[in-house]
Amino acid sequence: MNASHVPLIDLTGICRSYRSGDVVTRALRGVELSIYSGEFVAIVGASGSGKSTLMNIIGLIDRPTQGIYRFAGQDVAGLDRDGLAALRRNSFGFIFQQYHLISTVSALGNVEMPAVHAGAPRAYRHRRASALLARLGLATRMFNRPSQLSGGQQQRVSIARSLMNGGAVILADEPTGALDSKSGTEVLGILKELAGAGHTIILITHDSNVAAAAERIIRIEDGLIASDSGRDAGRVPRSSVAVAARHANGTSPPLWAWLEEAARSAFAALAVNPVRTALTLSGIVIGVASVVAMMAIGRGAQASFMERASAIGTNWLVVSRAGESAVTSMPLTLADAEAIKDLANVSGSMPALWEAGILRHANTDMNAEVIATTAEFRTVHNWDTAKGMFFTKEDEISGNAVMLLGATLALKLFPNIADPSGSHVLVNNIPFLVTGVLESKGLSEKGMDRDNNVVMPLRTAAMRLYGKDELSEIVVSIADMSRLQQTKDAIKSLLIRRHGREDFWLHDAASAFRKAEDERRSSNLLLGAIAAISMLVGGIGIMNIMLITVAERTREIGVRAAIGARTADILGQFLTEAIVLSAIGGVFGLLLGVLIGIAAATLFGMTVIFSITAAIGAVTGAVVMGTLFGFMPAFRAARLDPVVALSSQ
Ligand code: ADP
Ligand code: MG
Repeated sequence: MNASHVPLIDLTGICRSYRSGDVVTRALRGVELSIYSGEFVAIVGASGSGKSTLMNIIGLIDRPTQGIYRFAGQDVAGLDRDGLAALRRNSFGFIFQQYHLISTVSALGNVEMPAVHAGAPRAYRHRRASALLARLGLATRMFNRPSQLSGGQQQRVSIARSLMNGGAVILADEPTGALDSKSGTEVLGILKELAGAGHTIILITHDSNVAAAAERIIRIEDGLIASDSGRDAGRVPRSSVAVAARHANGTSPPLWAWLEEAARSAFAALAVNPVRTALTLSGIVIGVASVVAMMAIGRGAQASFMERASAIGTNWLVVSRAGESAVTSMPLTLADAEAIKDLANVSGSMPALWEAGILRHANTDMNAEVIATTAEFRTVHNWDTAKGMFFTKEDEISGNAVMLLGATLALKLFPNIADPSGSHVLVNNIPFLVTGVLESKGLSEKGMDRDNNVVMPLRTAAMRLYGKDELSEIVVSIADMSRLQQTKDAIKSLLIRRHGREDFWLHDAASAFRKAEDERRSSNLLLGAIAAISMLVGGIGIMNIMLITVAERTREIGVRAAIGARTADILGQFLTEAIVLSAIGGVFGLLLGVLIGIAAATLFGMTVIFSITAAIGAVTGAVVMGTLFGFMPAFRAARLDPVVALSSQ
């Protein structure tokens, strides 16, 4: 196709009216205009005559209400949103009176932007953008933000941006309007140079001095072309700039480019208003932190619980005296224990008496718990000796004055002796032979020292210390747990028969564990609900901040659209931004959760087990929330009409 015969831009009967309520403004009323490749055209006219409207239509960021626009012979009416974006991206460069640079991005980043949307590789983009900036005298300003540049410099950045994808057609709307006369002259000089290099330049101005820079001047009045100096007939058409530069035809930008852009915007948004962002993210942070901390504490509790359960098993129950008053209850006796042992499904019974005692060795006095029981204590409580040996059946039968020392007592009474077995200790002033030292069991759940005790045969305690054949409890081992209830009932009726009334309590380990397990499960459920609610609140927070962001950055969205961003690019950008924000919230929540867990462990001595799965799950949950709730604002941004977005304040 011959460039000199087919106009690059061909407008026939173009009308554009704006309707607001009942008022209809006819900005363009039938424009007929052909512009050929390589021309330098100025469109002049008074303010309100329709220049910008015409430029928006030529630049494909607005559609005419009537008329036909052919670009390089092709009717653009058939192009959809993304088709128009592609044409803008590949063939047009825009220069605005107010520069319209993206404030959070460096000069270099702004210039690269059209190529990002064209999917050009990073190295190519970088090279070309740097070269363009250098050519426009901004080699030392590449990494400055727009706010750090003068008006003239910003306009030169926007010229570089318009050239990034080739800039076959450059549309400049009042490019010198905001500049001092020196910078204005400079910018006009650059446009002339570009025209000389074969770019098609359409310069819009209300100033006839500015228009004089062009070769062809078109005057517009009240939405109609009033005069046209016409093409310079004698002018030899120069070889025009290829409609698109290399790489400019494009695939979507690669995912990482999106991510990079979005992460940058997200961090920029964070930096612009950190307090607002922090408050917005608090829901996500709290949600993730509670999941992480509570899971860790819950798992810790479960683990120590399981450890306890497996240490002492669940196949036992305890019979204890109900109340201490001799009037209302009879003490449990060894005879009761023997009788229980004879019941069906009872594999053993361990009688025990728990009493206080005072120990003395050398000059040290210690209060201790005296546990008087049988050798079955070892197996029932899974509690063996660390040193020496357990007392024997013979000791039990004869009531010998022998005993085992708890680990704490061994340490306190015999600080200098590794193994006190064979030594003598006074219990309530009666000498006892120490046969061994018990394994340490540490603190109980209630914080009591379980090692501050001595264990001796029942008969020894009854004969030598307390002078009574009474028990505190009888621990009963069950053979078949499936018949637990029948066995409990049998023990109950046996003891009622023996005591004449129910003056005892029955606790079975299995139901105690089951109860604890149920409590844990319901508290987990509650915590899960709390976490879910705070996640939801967090998601709404993300949606809120994204809606605000989209509203605040409407013009940026318009600029991106003008330089060729697809619907998907903008959708993806804001969606990724929401995801990045929620991921930041998730990571902070994770840190907070770990801190809470560590605090629980160090301050309250809780067992805490962190779970990688919970951490990943919680952060993923936050990101999913961000995605779900970020979608609506992102979609709203993507659907914005470019021309409306551009003109927003
Ligand atoms: P110029 O750029 O020459 O100053 P415009 O093309 O901006 O003129 O505007 C042409 C006419 O259309 C003006 O009367 C203006 O008020 C009107 N106009 C422009 N944009 C809109 C809009 N978005 N809604 C309603 N009227 C508009
Ligand atoms: Mg205007």
